[in-house]
Amino acid sequence: MLSSETIDSIAHCIQQSQGQEVCGFLLCDNAGKQRFYRVKNLSGEPHSFFVSQLDFDRLRRHAQRRYLQIKALIHTHDSGLELSSVDRAYSNEGEIMWIVVTNQK
Ligand SMILES: [Zn+2]
Repeated sequence: MLSSETIDSIAHCIQQSQGQEVCGFLLCDNAGKQRFYRVKNLSGEPHSFFVSQLDFDRLRRHAQRRYLQIKALIHTHDSGLELSSVDRAYSNEGEIMWIVVTNQK
């Protein structure tokens, strides 16, 4: 479902993230080409992430201007794909699909 390019750019973000979870959005153009739009993880805690409303609004404008569809919210775990309790609470709220990516070897 994720293109290899998307996976590559997420992997690149993980390398730079210094152990913090990486979060961003999967955008898709009319031809079905994916791109990963990273947003800041504002959570100060390990094993968690938080996206501000400001960043989300910015993403929506970015997508709108470029005729891109917002396909999913992506964040990374360094251990397993299990949703945390916070994940679970949030993912039930929105209408955007959630994708969790793990970099566990
Ligand atoms: Zn999570």
